[in-house]
Amino acid sequence: MKDRFELPEGMIYLDGNSLGPLPKGVAARVGRMMSDEWGANLIKGWNVDGWMAQPSRVGDMVGRIIGAPEGSVVMGDTLSLKVYQALSAALQMRPERKVVLSDSGNFPTDLYMAEGLLRHLRQAHELRVVAPEEVADAITGDIAAVMLTQVDYRTGRMHDMNAITAKAHGAGAVMVWDLAHSAGAVPVDMAGSNAEFAVGCTYKYLNGGPGAPAFIYVRPDLADSIDPALAGWLGHEAPFAFDLDYRPAPGIERMRVGTPPVLQLAALEEAMKIWGEVDMVDIRAASIRLSELFVAEVEAHCPNLRLASPRDAAVRGSQVSFHFENGYAAMQALIARGVIGDFRAPDIMRFGFTPLYLDDADVKRAVAILAEILRDRLWDRPEYLARQRVT
Ligand SMILES: *Cc1c(COP(=O)(O)O)cnc(C)c1O
Repeated sequence: MKDRFELPEGMIYLDGNSLGPLPKGVAARVGRMMSDEWGANLIKGWNVDGWMAQPSRVGDMVGRIIGAPEGSVVMGDTLSLKVYQALSAALQMRPERKVVLSDSGNFPTDLYMAEGLLRHLRQAHELRVVAPEEVADAITGDIAAVMLTQVDYRTGRMHDMNAITAKAHGAGAVMVWDLAHSAGAVPVDMAGSNAEFAVGCTYKYLNGGPGAPAFIYVRPDLADSIDPALAGWLGHEAPFAFDLDYRPAPGIERMRVGTPPVLQLAALEEAMKIWGEVDMVDIRAASIRLSELFVAEVEAHCPNLRLASPRDAAVRGSQVSFHFENGYAAMQALIARGVIGDFRAPDIMRFGFTPLYLDDADVKRAVAILAEILRDRLWDRPEYLARQRVT
């Protein structure tokens, strides 16, 4: 599968958990879309080229890799907005409860969006944030919604989706999962988990490109009863009736908001084709093999680094992180030598393992370069110490 990606010669890309690489065929597809659809058909493209159906069509492709049935996933907007939509829908289901439970390993935007929503609801809701390992015990009878990211963006620590969802339901709470670091990284069974809502992005493991749209899943039995907080015209039952009043579309379509990002969806649709040829169980097995090899090699050759991820692969997603006090500079030195990972404050060097385009030789070579940087203090140079805007 490595051959299916446009990877620069000599680069070892360990950052597919943040921005997946460009799959071959995507540039040509976007080019064709521009010339043959937009260029040639102009506004007719909405009908003749299927642009209007694209958010649901691509949603079904995403649905297949997260265990969601046809017609339960739709694409659009950014993940931050999808978090807002899902949480507001969850709160509508428990009007008598006023607490949202999340954890301190969640990605900040998820917490910010929740805070903003709760503040603007003006119903004295509380956002209760506990440590990740305390979540299960913190699911009490006052919780309206449990909102968690399954795989921790910093450490890769992974929540047990089925166990936590069952606990939430046992306490009468609604479950919202963020699958940003799960979709395309680990097997997910949305239907089997019975969770009400899930959201995620597509520019990480799904290789949809920078700015690729997010997805939202709503459990099919609930979709028709949600009153969308973001009541946009394309989630209306009849957008082209141009009614003055909002009536939600049936099912998942009501989670659409406005005009879909057609170019980005064309890129994503092409990039998603690869998932029809692989099995998530095989991907997971290969990801564990690569991650275990990486941990073993780093611990053997880089004594200054301390594992920040769970040691047990069963509770780790598809990334491995290490603490190092000079982690930012060390990562810059690594990037300068063609090994791309990233840095998360305050001291985490983060590496993603994406079996579609990485093999054992890449892992070994990456660690050999890292070991040399640490041993010879090659990171200790002004150009590596100066922080850039995106880390
Ligand atoms: C990557 C990520 C985001 C990013 O949100 P955008 O709105 O797409 O910028 C949000 N939440 C989590 C958990 C993430 O990992």
